[in-house]
Amino acid sequence: MQKTPISTLCLDDREFLIKRDDLFDEYLSGNKYRKLHKLLQTPADKLDTIISYGGTQSNAMLSIAAMCQQKGWKFIYYTKPLSQHQKQNQDGNYAQALRFGMQHKEIEHELYRDYVASLRVLQDERSFIIHQGGAVDEAVEGLEVLADEIRTQNPQCDAIATPSGTGTTAFFLAKHLSEFTIYTTPSVGDKSYLLEQMGALGKVPDNLIILESEKKYHFAKPYREFYEIYEKLLKSGIEFDLLYAPLLWKLLLEQTQERILYIHSGGVFGNTTMLERYKRKGFVR
Ligand SMILES: *Cc1c(COP(=O)(O)O)cnc(C)c1O
Repeated sequence: MQKTPISTLCLDDREFLIKRDDLFDEYLSGNKYRKLHKLLQTPADKLDTIISYGGTQSNAMLSIAAMCQQKGWKFIYYTKPLSQHQKQNQDGNYAQALRFGMQHKEIEHELYRDYVASLRVLQDERSFIIHQGGAVDEAVEGLEVLADEIRTQNPQCDAIATPSGTGTTAFFLAKHLSEFTIYTTPSVGDKSYLLEQMGALGKVPDNLIILESEKKYHFAKPYREFYEIYEKLLKSGIEFDLLYAPLLWKLLLEQTQERILYIHSGGVFGNTTMLERYKRKGFVR
């Protein structure tokens, strides 16, 4: 696996270091690439089918679809029913995943929970189930590779930052890079929900700091201040995703002072659909 470079970025008179995990591939990038490390290393003839489930525009879905296309594996993906709007406007991560050959199956709302819980019985030697958000038990392996890579690159920083969905990335980075402070923030739900999710992975490391915003933000909703940060970052030279990155950047600028290495976890392809929504809201100048 090739190492990703570290770039610098100036924002509000501060210099940040950026670990460019967004640069692996346009579709298969960031922490999803890391989490799929074990599967990416698996020879194509060892498996036939990958099964997963989750949101219809998720970055994990797109990354898995890109991997399956590269490997020649069948990819079956379960979601709740598409909305009328999504049926009529197939774009972004979803449309691209279909182009990669993803077979999409909609499960009724009332049945969804039990259905995804029952998927594990489908797993056999030729098929593999990836839980929501790319949460493979094997994810830890790729995140260890990332931690080792950061250590050998020896970045001149005091802290590392990465936004949390499931919290898997922040948790394992904190565990394997105990000499650094790891900053994160919940993108879905609040701090107690994130701690609960992380608790399922083990004891939450002491060097992990969860930053919190006073204002409550809903995941995947457009906010004017998020667009402003996105644009400011873009003007400084690097495009970040619009789902996870803006809130953490906002809190890093407001609540921290150290020299920080930010892990760019990709997700930029999904910006096309988010930017459409920002435009409809009138947030794009
Ligand atoms: C998936 C994703 C995250 C969240 O990662 P977790 O390991 O689930 O916490 C953060 N940023 C981007 C861009 C992502 O695609």
